[in-house]
This record gives sequence, C-alpha cells and structure tokens, in this order.
Amino acid sequence: MEWLGLHFFTELPEHGHLLLNCSHNPFLVLLAYLVACAAGFGTLDMAERVGHVEDPTARRNWRWLGAGCLAGGIWSTHFISMLAFQAPVAIHYELIMTFASLLIALIASLFAMQTLSHANLRLHQYLLASVWMGIGIALMHYVGMSAMHSQAQVYFEPGLFMASVGIAIGSSLAALLLSSYLRTGTGVFHQLLKYAASLVLGAGILSMHFTGMAAMQMIVPTGADLSLPTGNNPIQLGLSVAVITLLVIGSSVSAALADKKLQHKERDLRRVNALLSELDQARASLQQVAHYDALTSLLNRRGFNQIFAEKLAEKTASHGMMAVIFLDIDHFKRINDSLGHDAGDQLLTVLAGHIKGSVRSHADVVARFGGDEFCILISIHHRDEARHLAQRIMQQMKEPIELAGRRMVMTTSIGISLFPDDGLTCEELLKTADLALYQSKDMGRNSLNFFSSNLKTRASLELQLEEELRGALRARNQLVLFYQPIFDMKQGKVTRLEALVRWQHPQHGLLGPDRFIGIAESNGLIAELDHWVLRQACHDLSLLSDRGYTELTMSVNCSALNLARDELADEIEDALRLSGIAATRLELEVTENALMGNISSTLALLRQIRALGVSLAIDDFGTGYSSLAYLKRLPLNTLKIDRSFIQDIPKSIADIEIVQAIIGMAHTLHLQVVTEGVETQAQFELLLKHGCDFVQGYLLSPAVAANDIIGVIQGINLRDPHGGAAAKDGSSAKESSPSRDSPTSIARPIR
Ligand code: GH3
Ligand code: MG
Repeated sequence: MEWLGLHFFTELPEHGHLLLNCSHNPFLVLLAYLVACAAGFGTLDMAERVGHVEDPTARRNWRWLGAGCLAGGIWSTHFISMLAFQAPVAIHYELIMTFASLLIALIASLFAMQTLSHANLRLHQYLLASVWMGIGIALMHYVGMSAMHSQAQVYFEPGLFMASVGIAIGSSLAALLLSSYLRTGTGVFHQLLKYAASLVLGAGILSMHFTGMAAMQMIVPTGADLSLPTGNNPIQLGLSVAVITLLVIGSSVSAALADKKLQHKERDLRRVNALLSELDQARASLQQVAHYDALTSLLNRRGFNQIFAEKLAEKTASHGMMAVIFLDIDHFKRINDSLGHDAGDQLLTVLAGHIKGSVRSHADVVARFGGDEFCILISIHHRDEARHLAQRIMQQMKEPIELAGRRMVMTTSIGISLFPDDGLTCEELLKTADLALYQSKDMGRNSLNFFSSNLKTRASLELQLEEELRGALRARNQLVLFYQPIFDMKQGKVTRLEALVRWQHPQHGLLGPDRFIGIAESNGLIAELDHWVLRQACHDLSLLSDRGYTELTMSVNCSALNLARDELADEIEDALRLSGIAATRLELEVTENALMGNISSTLALLRQIRALGVSLAIDDFGTGYSSLAYLKRLPLNTLKIDRSFIQDIPKSIADIEIVQAIIGMAHTLHLQVVTEGVETQAQFELLLKHGCDFVQGYLLSPAVAANDIIGVIQGINLRDPHGGAAAKDGSSAKESSPSRDSPTSIARPIR
C-alpha cells in the first residue's frame, strides 16, 4: 500500500525478505536525546522571553531564535538518530530532501513560537496548534526518512506510523502547555521544573523518532549482498552535528539569560525612578502643606517667614526698602456667627483673591497668617507706594460680595511697618506692623496706619493693664458699677437700670469698658469679671429695694464668651439667691452676634436662663446679621436698638424708617423695644410717636455711680417725661446728674 509516497507494509513482497538485523548505536541515541532535551530547554527559555519583553521587535527576534532552537534541535535529534541507525546495507542520504525536512522543522517551530506569543489561549486552541505542530514534526521526520536511499525498499507499519504521529502531536501539546505554564515564575523551583520539562520534551521528540523508526521495515531483494558498511564514521558526524546544535542552543540560552538580567536591571531602574518621582511628589505635597494655606492656597505664616528672611537679607545687603502690610478683616466673626463657618471660608477665599489681585507683581509676597489675617511684603522706594497699595486693597475689599444669597460689603483694617525704619528683623517688622494694625482697629476699623514709636509704648501699656486688671479682679477694690436709667415711655418713669462696669485705675483714673473688656476677653478674665458684675448688680438692686425701689429691674451685660459656659445659669441663680432678688427683676443683655454664634448650644443655655425667670435682651440690634428666623426661635423679651440708628434721627429719613420697621417687627415678635443713645428731645419725640417702649441715653442721664443713681431716678421721674423738663442734649443731661453726696447713696461694694 502506498500513501503520500510512503509504502505501507501489508505483506512481504515476492523476491524480497525482511532485513532483521538492524540496530542503533547507543552513544548516538544518547547524544540525540541530549540534543532533544537542549532543544526543549532552549524553546522553553525563548518562550519565556517572548512572554516578558514588551518591545515588538525584540519579541519577533526571540520568536525567531526560539523557532531556530526548536527546529535545529528536532532536526539534529532526527539526524543524529538516523546516524545511529545501523543496517547491513549501504545507505545514502539525499541532500535536498534532508534540507527540505529542516525547512519543515523550521516552519513547524515558527508556528509553535507564534502560538506561544499569545498570552492566554484556550485548551482547544492549544489542541489545534499541537495537531498542526505534530503533523509538521511527523512530516519533517518522514521527509527526512524519504531522503534515505539504499538497495532496500522501505515500508512502514501503519499502526506504529500513526502512533509516531500521535506522539508528535502529544509532545507538541506538552511543549506548548509547559511553555505557557513556565513562562512566568522565578526561583529555584521554577528552574528545576524547567529542567524536568526539558527532559520530558526531549523524551517526546526522541520517542516520536524511534516510534517512526520502529514503524519502518526494510525489505531487500533476495540474494542481495548484505554486509555492514565500512569507511564512513557516523559517530564523528553525529558529534559534529550535536556540538554545533548545542552551541547554537547554548548561545541562544545565554543570550536569553543576559537579556533577562538586563530586563530585570531595567525594571529595577524603572522602579527606582518611579520611587524617586513618588518621593519628589510626596516632598512637594509636604512642602505645599507646610508652607501654603489649604483654604486660600496663599503662603502660610511659615512659608511667608522663609521668604521674608531671604528678602530681608537681600534688602539689608542692597540697602533697599520694604514694607510689611498687615491686614485684618473687620468684624469677620459676624459672618461666621450669622452665616456659618462654610460661608466664612468662602468669603475668605474671595477676599484672598481680591488681595492677590491688588498686588503689583509676582515679586510681592502675599500670605494668610490664619483666621482673617493676611500679610503682604513689598519692595518699595518710598512709603507712599505702600500707602497706595494699601488704599487700593482697602478699596478692592469694599467691593460687594455675593454670599449665601446676600450682598456683603466687608471692610479691612491695615497696619504697615517699613524696613529699615521700623525694625531690622522679621520679628520686629511683624510686631510693629501688628501694632499699627491694632491702632487701625482701635480707630474704628476700615483704616490704615503706619507704625509709629508711640504705638510701642501703648502696646506695653496694654500688657501692663492686663496684669493690673488681674490684680483688680483679685482685690475687687478698683472695679465699680455705674448705672444708667432706662425710661419707660408708657409709665413715664424710670423702671430699669443698666449696670455698666468701670475701672477706677489708681494712675489712669476712671476707665470705660472699651479700655479693658477686650483685654479681659482675650486673657480669660471675662468670666470672672462678668460674674462679679452680676453679683454686684444684684446686690445693689437689693439695696435699692430696701430704699423702696421694689419694682426697678436691672439689666446686666453678658459677654459672648460667657454664653459658651454652662455654669452661667448656676451663677445667675446663685447671685439671685444671695441678693434675694426676684428673677423677674433681672435681665441679661447679650449682643446680637453672641446670640447668633453657635445658636444651637446658645439656645439651650438661654432656655435654661429663661426658665429661672430671668429676662433676656438682644443688645446692639442691627449691627449683626441675625435673621428673623433665628430671632423667632430665641426666648427673648427685649430688643435694644443700637445707638448708630439713632444718631442721625430725625435728619435721616432712612434711619427713621429703619427704626420704625425694627419697632414694628419687635412688637410683632412680642418683644419690648429699648432704644439706646437717645440724646435729643427730637429723637425722644420720634421714638414716642413710633411706639418705642423704653429709651436710654444722655438725654435722660449718662451712667452714674451707684451712689448717685437714686437722685438721678428721682430727677428724671420728677421731670415731665414727654418734653417739659427733659434735657436738650448730652451735656445738660450730665449736668442734671445728682451729686455723689446724695443722702440716698446705695454704694457698698460686695466682697
Ligand atoms: P475684628 O474687626 O476685630 O478683626 O473682629 P473679627 O470679628 O474679624 O475677629 P478677629 O479678626 O479677631 O477673628 C477672626 C475670626 O475668624 C476668628 C474666627 O472665628 C474666624 N476664623 C479663624 N479661622 C477661620 C477659618 O479658617 N475659617 C473661617 N470661616 N473663620 C475663621
Ligand atoms: Mg478680623
């Protein structure tokens, strides 16, 4: 039987007999196995490379090299195995067919490497590829066999022939699966696995060959001359082929190893570079956090100080001039208190943008020092440059800003210090600019001031005042309460008093609260101070009761900071109990902004105070940002209209309308209205006309010492409250105050 040029053995031909004494040289068989294993190892190595390199050209090169190793290996195995074959007939090999078999091996190997370059193949794809590869290898083998010429006719046993093709396919499948499995992984175990896999592959290649050989039957004509050929040395040729093949595979494996090492190095280098750039980024963000303000992205104090020190060194060397401009937004707390912290943040961001937009160039340094405080550093030639910039900023800051549905107009106070005039070091210049800023605040805000040396004196004076205030609070012999009468429009007499603290300073004389309340608030003394005022006012009221003023009520101011203290309600209760005053005769005045700050916690405390029976008044109404919604929620009894609305009455029609509206609104909310700062009869008449419940001010009397209050009350009550004898202005009101020696004195400080 003949198929594809191969003669299949069915029965012994006539005139021929089977050549039985064929054998294989064991040394060459071993050599062939060695080459097959090397080919397997080389292929696994190249497949690993193909899987690891990213460059497409390098991948193609490794594919070709792998194919070369596999093809060379299989073919050499086949060739050496053929040399190992010994038969008692002369055998010649046809060169063209031999090379054709090499070409077929190369094509099959290329196909294998191509298959292995796909990362994830499914099993059926592996199967299909191994069928094609197996057929290729078998083809190579049988084409190689057909190159063999001798006087014997070659036949093949069909069963073993099929088995050899099957082994070729099976070995190919094993090679593909092992290669893709071993493509990833490192370490000794992986390497051992690769060696073992090479042995298996070598065995596969060789067993395919020998199964093919076992399928071969040589039939020689009867009477042919049978003798073992002499002369050519198959061992030498086999060795040469093996050495060349092993050298090629060895070089390929070495190249793969070198490439692997190079790739590892490159990867390490890349990793180091990535780490370095990560480190750079981390350093940059740390720098950002450490030197920049998160809210406004301006420099923070630390960042500013660093640049300031550098600029200062430059200016010192070049004898240049610099200005430090300190800015603080006026009444910024009101925004936080009334619109919330988020709105405050939003406003700060907008204002920071305004400041940044007002400076002249990138050389000017702008920083946010925290809160609503900003600082600018500029190089100048004349102090007027600093003044112009500051004025420009002040103007820009006054631009209306839309916030939470409202239009805000903010003002700014500015303090400026100059290098080298006002200081030579960063600390000195910042300190002096700060002092100048304080002065701007003291002057009523929305102003700018340059530092002058007398400010320093003032600052140290403040420090001294703080110490002395501590002493005065401890000794309780310098603080005194003054009382200002509050006139009831309906009853036509004084029914209330407001307690106002004064400090009888041994050197500076009588100091008003504006001189020391701020100091007390910023140094933690305010709770003690307010407590003392409360107790003294209750005590004085009890003395007034003893004098027959049993209906008189007392208003006491309460600092915003005190509203955050839970003890306040207990302190009020104690003061009432100690003095024996009914709670209904006491009223606590709280400023509008204090009430609006942290409304939820304040509300609880206010309810507690109201539950005692004490009345609550909202002071300085109109200066804050309280909303009607809040006003409705608060347990208030009285609303005090700030003096600023009264000043221009009756000249300002707008102010008259505002006051009228406030009175109307308060009455709708069932609040009584007290108007402060009433100085003229015209104001009094107008307030009377619009239904104001109470008035207070110089028209009636300024605050007077406790000793004098009974006389003052009597004086006012005796006058015709609706015009007749009421004083026409503040000075005459003061003159009308009774003397300190009044027999109706109530002054007796409590301890
Ligand atoms: P003055 O006119 O005296 O400057 O009064 P002020 O209300 O502006 O008060 P001051 O400058 O003393 O305090 C600034 C306030 O800003 C204190 C704090 O409640 C608020 N504040 C501080 N940091 C932040 C912040 O990051 N965001 C917001 N929204 N408010 C802040
Ligand atoms: Mg401020």
